[in-house]
Amino acid sequence: MIRSDLYINGQWVSTTKRHPIHDPSDDSIITEISVAGDGEVDAAIDAAANAFPIFARMAPRARGEILRKAFEIMISEADELAQLVSRENGKVLADAKGEILYAAEFFRWFSEEAVRINGEFRHSPSGDKRILVTHQPIGVSLLITPWNFPAAMATRKIGPAIAAGCTVIVKPAMETPLTTLAIVDILERAGLPAGVVNVITPTPAGPAVSRILADPRVKNLSFTGSTQVGKLLLKQAADRVIRTSMELGGNAPFLVLDDANIDEAVAGAMLAKLRNGGAACTAANRFYVSQKVASEFTQKLTEAMAKIKMAPGLTEGAQLGASVSIKERDKISELVDSAVQQGGKVSLGGAKPSGAGAFYPATVMTVDADNDILKEEIFGPVAVVVSVDSDEEAIRLANDTAYGLISYVYSGALDRAIRVSEAMESGMVAINRGVISDPAAPFGGYKESGLGREGGFDGIHEFLEKKFIGVTI
Ligand code: NAP
Repeated sequence: MIRSDLYINGQWVSTTKRHPIHDPSDDSIITEISVAGDGEVDAAIDAAANAFPIFARMAPRARGEILRKAFEIMISEADELAQLVSRENGKVLADAKGEILYAAEFFRWFSEEAVRINGEFRHSPSGDKRILVTHQPIGVSLLITPWNFPAAMATRKIGPAIAAGCTVIVKPAMETPLTTLAIVDILERAGLPAGVVNVITPTPAGPAVSRILADPRVKNLSFTGSTQVGKLLLKQAADRVIRTSMELGGNAPFLVLDDANIDEAVAGAMLAKLRNGGAACTAANRFYVSQKVASEFTQKLTEAMAKIKMAPGLTEGAQLGASVSIKERDKISELVDSAVQQGGKVSLGGAKPSGAGAFYPATVMTVDADNDILKEEIFGPVAVVVSVDSDEEAIRLANDTAYGLISYVYSGALDRAIRVSEAMESGMVAINRGVISDPAAPFGGYKESGLGREGGFDGIHEFLEKKFIGVTI
């Protein structure tokens, strides 16, 4: 059964205003969901605020066990969930299944973290007191997620919130709310008490989100989405000095140094570029390749990309699905067209296919270092290659962006790769790998790619306040 209603205070709530959810591979309507009005938004805040004092006192082990149970259900239902992700998002089934397994891992990881919230007990240097440091759940949190990873971006926030003892209001992207609703259905079956997780789907998002952020009972905002919307929300959060965690846009450089194994670099590039059809904040966006190996790399990458099978996500053997909407697909197409007008040379793809669905083909192009496409997050299957003369030039160009989420470095020498990694202005660096995301590692960006870290040992602290208690003994 596809859940299509709001989830407030442990109840599925239907409203008369409906919003269609499309399958972007053929534009058919999957279902219509309930739209939240002000009354439902307020009810969700009430539910989260009322549940908080009780949930905050639930034993950490009990909170962890709910997450562990939800992990197990997600794994046992991974195939059905992956189909749902593929249908509402457009990505191919293999990517959708990979996302579900990755998403479930956040529940498992945070089920383990729930019982490891450490404190401190120390003598003050002057000897006048003891220093106790403890952590407490911050309170009602607003979680806003994007459409590109509808499962993983939800569990990466809901998991640590539950582990920490917070209650939440989740606002998923309006293109892809069905996966979040399915995950909440799983949490309900795993025994989550009413009011701990509430899901609302208002449209437009802005007024409802402002309403929530203005409520004094809301203490924390965890947002994943574009830098543009993130900045708007940071300004609103500032009015009430709300804690924020921001996972924003990326513009990842992928450096291929002259001593790299080119076949391995191409294999890594395929993963870093094509996972999720290129619609990932971690997607390699700019390939800076040593001029000594640039033509070999571009030729091999073009050959590998040419073999990619583009088809609706649920088609057997499909490797590249649809973008989430025609609007998003057209943004990719406009970026490529404008890059060509500025002198970019296309060696594969580069044109919208005719016919239904939000498809854009695997595309490879070479451009000069000043082409505007290098400034934008492409969010599609377009590899843009720039030839560089030295490691120093590659580093300078890689860092010449407001973003700083992730960088990729391919080199045959580990010391050289680490030197380059240390020079990268990004929160994450993948050395000789096309994917590094791991629920057990801190995920987040430098510069305009965000604030805070999700996953790893840091993720739970986005939902905890630190308290110092001083006492004379
Ligand atoms: P988006 O347009 O910023 O939307 C993200 C979320 O914000 C959606 O739920 C959206 O709701 C909501 N929203 C939009 N306008 C809003 C407003 N004025 N006030 C309050 N909420 C608002 O981003 P997207 O297109 O869904 O996702 C793609 C972006 O996410 C890319 O930039 C990507 O890099 C980034 N991303 C970052 C990470 C990371 O971890 N750093 C991970 C994944 C994605 P509606 O859908 O209802 O408009």
